[in-house]
Amino acid sequence: MKKTIRDVELAGKKVFVRVDFNVPLNNGVIRDTRRVDSSLATINYLREKGAKIILASHLGKPKGADPELSLAPVAKLLSERLESPVIFHSTPEVVDDEVRRLVDGMKEGEVILLENTRYDVGETKNDRELAEKFASLADIFVNDAFGTAHRAHASNVGVAEILPVKVSGFLIEKELKYFYEALDSPQRPFLAILGGAKVSDKIKVIENLLDKVDEIVVGGAMAYTFMKALGHSVGTSLVEDDMVDYAKKILEMAEEKNIAFHLPVDFAVAKEFADLPPVYTEGRDISSDSMGLDIGPKSIENFKEVIARARTIVWNGPVGVFEMSNYAKGTGAIARALADNPGITIIGGGDSAAAITEMGLDDAMSHISTGGGASLELLEGKELPGIGILEER
Ligand code: AMP
Repeated sequence: MKKTIRDVELAGKKVFVRVDFNVPLNNGVIRDTRRVDSSLATINYLREKGAKIILASHLGKPKGADPELSLAPVAKLLSERLESPVIFHSTPEVVDDEVRRLVDGMKEGEVILLENTRYDVGETKNDRELAEKFASLADIFVNDAFGTAHRAHASNVGVAEILPVKVSGFLIEKELKYFYEALDSPQRPFLAILGGAKVSDKIKVIENLLDKVDEIVVGGAMAYTFMKALGHSVGTSLVEDDMVDYAKKILEMAEEKNIAFHLPVDFAVAKEFADLPPVYTEGRDISSDSMGLDIGPKSIENFKEVIARARTIVWNGPVGVFEMSNYAKGTGAIARALADNPGITIIGGGDSAAAITEMGLDDAMSHISTGGGASLELLEGKELPGIGILEER
């Protein structure tokens, strides 16, 4: 268990908080405020405890200072949400003499937001000099940005290597609670649902989960590599030919370990990659002129049964091309089946989270991860650099 902000003395302390304010922006307008809203619990707790709060985040992928990717609109939104002014000073250096002066003048409970950490190209290189600039501002490091926890950057790892106290905020605490509990002591049956485009992206996840779960469901384009491994015709579907042998090995390993490995039994197919009404296959074979773009109705029924009996479920990746409405049925059915499940339901970020949100099912899930890449690496069994650096309780 990692220490959290509940475990440390905060009154009067300068606290450097790495938050995830990487919000979608459109001409300076924030299109989705959730990342800011979900940081408020941590920030308000720190304010109540009398800390001086220094917030840092990246926004987009600038290669140096870029006024279009300034955090100024976020500072404005945050001060509205906190009903209190947020200090903000835009500088290409991120930390300059003016920032130091402003931080020195802060009173307990006050908040400053630093400019986009990626204005300094040293951020993504975990540059020591930049990390020292961050560390010189504060007494305590708090990581609450799960989405970047799988990267070692100056604002989430470099600064933590220097500061003596390093703990998590409430958002990271929640991410770890759900993922570690599921992986270490799940209520069973424990089911993993994997979809998306490529087997190769999820090899390590599958290997790690084979030692943890009771059942696995595989959908999406990934399934066609398994279909080919089983000797079925896959038509023009997306297949990774160099992964076919590996897919065979996975199926053998699952059998050895007594894990029920569920693949689709029918597909929604089309002659071209376009949002046209689908044709359904009878079984697993796809004719040579067609490509599979979603799971079919029999597969949906099978997967619903598997989902209904599970007590812990982790889902990562859509089971079809859900961006096209004609091929979103499978992914939609999985989302609804999860919503109906009374057990623990954990959604890895990215596309599955987007599908859940689009369907208005957020509140029906136990946990929707805020980090697609980071949650995949947790499922691979890796320790994330931005988590590993935090103190153990
Ligand atoms: P990933 O980033 O690996 O999770 O993959 C997500 C992408 O996989 C989405 O953009 C889906 O459209 C795509 N996908 C899912 N099923 C299929 C399929 N049957 N054929 C092609 N792409 C698919």
